[in-house]
Order: sequence, then structure tokens, then C-alpha cells
Amino acid sequence: MDDCIFCKIANGKILVKPVAEDADTFAFADLNPQAPTHILVIPKAHVQSLAHVSEGDWPAVGRVLAMVARVAKQLGLDQTGYRTVFNSGKDAGQSVDHLHAHLLGGRAMAWPPG
Ligand code: 5GP
Ligand code: ZN
Repeated sequence: MDDCIFCKIANGKILVKPVAEDADTFAFADLNPQAPTHILVIPKAHVQSLAHVSEGDWPAVGRVLAMVARVAKQLGLDQTGYRTVFNSGKDAGQSVDHLHAHLLGGRAMAWPPG
């Protein structure tokens, strides 16, 4: 999508330092971190949110989750724990309409989330 900021990050039109990357996914640091480690993992193909995943997109979403686990391990968060969040739509506060997983770690977190 031409006007999607995460598509631009995924296709290199906006340059950001990758934390990890493979053929289908891209991981990079959140601009406004909510924890000592706050990484976003996106599919390179545009999907608006979990609520917009079509049957053929599920493998890509699975690869996003696999990348979350891989990055968490790379950063040592698998030793201490981490939270993975997908905000979908208005009530969840989704602010960028390109599906993304938040990987948050490096501090203890409260439950329930706000
Ligand atoms: P959401 O609120 O949609 O679940 O999460 C969007 C996230 O993207 C926010 O945490 C926000 O800080 C982050 N973000 C928005 N624009 C950019 C950007 O241009 N670069 C990076 N690295 N993060 C961004
Ligand atoms: Zn997009």
C-alpha cells in the first residue's frame, strides 16, 4: 500500500535499522518504546490487522509469531519473559493499520493491560 508507513519500512522506502529480517517479515525497534525492549514485527505484505486476515494470509501471520520468538531469543528475553501484543482496531488503540506484533520485555508487566 502506497500510503502505509509500515509498508514503506518493509520495502526500504523508509530506512530503519533491522533487528531481524527474513523473506516475509521485518523486525525493528518501536519509535516510542513502552519497555526497555520494544520491537515491532511486521509481515512484509500488507494486511490491515488480525481482523482483516484472509485464509491465505495465515501462514504469514504464523511467520510473524515465529519471528517474535526468534528475536526474543536473540535478545535473551526468553530467559526473563516477554509480552506479545497485537492491537486490532479502535478499542485496542491500533494506530498503524498494518498488522504488527509488539514484543515487549526487560521489565515486569502488569495484568490486565490498560
Ligand atoms: P499500535 O498502536 O498500532 O498497536 O502500534 C503502532 C506502533 O508503531 C506504536 O508503538 C508506535 O510508536 C510505532 N510507530 C509508529 N510510527 C513509527 C515509525 O515510523 N517508526 C517506528 N520505528 N515505529 C513507529
Ligand atoms: Zn502496509
